[in-house]
Amino acid sequence: MAFARMPGIGKKTALRLVMHLLQSEKENTQQFTEALQRLREDIKFCSVCHNVSDEELCSVCSNPRRDHSVICVVENFRDILAIEQTRHYHGVYHVLEGLISPMDGIGPDQLNVDALEERVKKEETKELIMALNPTMDGDTTIFYLSKRFAEYGVHITTIARGIAFGGELEYVDEITLARSIQSRLPFEQYLHKNGNG
Ligand code: ZN
Repeated sequence: MAFARMPGIGKKTALRLVMHLLQSEKENTQQFTEALQRLREDIKFCSVCHNVSDEELCSVCSNPRRDHSVICVVENFRDILAIEQTRHYHGVYHVLEGLISPMDGIGPDQLNVDALEERVKKEETKELIMALNPTMDGDTTIFYLSKRFAEYGVHITTIARGIAFGGELEYVDEITLARSIQSRLPFEQYLHKNGNG
């Protein structure tokens, strides 16, 4: 049952939803199906950070209370949802839409890197937080970005990773994620800690 596969919906709730749809007028079910279809087709992305958004600017980018001089760099918009849930991050985001992966032939040109560079130049960014998954591709991407952005004098940090933090960002529990965002490290220190530098 497709409903049961949605986040936060168990088998019981799924059954209730289906019962409701079956009991309602056929017309209603039709409208519901069309609405879902439109949602899928109309999905839009923020013109600045590429977060999902129903406006030109997403709710984070358009919020003047957020610190626009700190940009958290993530692989995809699902990471933003995970980080937002912690309520411990007050900067803005940038979605790369993937990671650099020499094995899969994915280079920086296929990612949202040029747009990030434009932002850093224009917005006087102070800090770029690399919140990427601790994989080979994640590390390759951080390394590349730290070299590329060195000339702008922007502070490059990574979220503290390692301890209870082996999986994908979106599956990490909120407390661990909140803690790792708060105790982020300068990138050089991260390299040193991991014996790569
Ligand atoms: Zn945005």
